[in-house]
Amino acid sequence: MGRHTVDIRCRCCKKPGKHMGRGLIISCYTRHQRAGTLHRFPIPKPASPGWSPTGRLGEKTLDRYIALDTRGLSPARIRFELGLSARQVQRYAKAAKERQLAAAESITERQSA
Ligand SMILES: [Zn+2]
Repeated sequence: MGRHTVDIRCRCCKKPGKHMGRGLIISCYTRHQRAGTLHRFPIPKPASPGWSPTGRLGEKTLDRYIALDTRGLSPARIRFELGLSARQVQRYAKAAKERQLAAAESITERQSA
């Protein structure tokens, strides 16, 4: 499996095309990037069979994970605080990182706009 171009139906114009990112085809992604409007198309949950928190509890735990991580707590401490297994804390770390990347990307867009 890989992250090569995938044919999708664009979230913006509903036309089929090669996926660039955020559910947008290349032309739309480029256009929105230039216009500084990419934030209108939040990054969708990973299409890979990866894990992401589901339901209210999962989202809440992810929020708490991010809050503790932001305060500089170690993964082991966060794991203790949240009562997670080692595997679970890794999953939350990954999900938190993806969310932070999405946030960082939207900040970059605002700055360049
Ligand atoms: Zn489009």
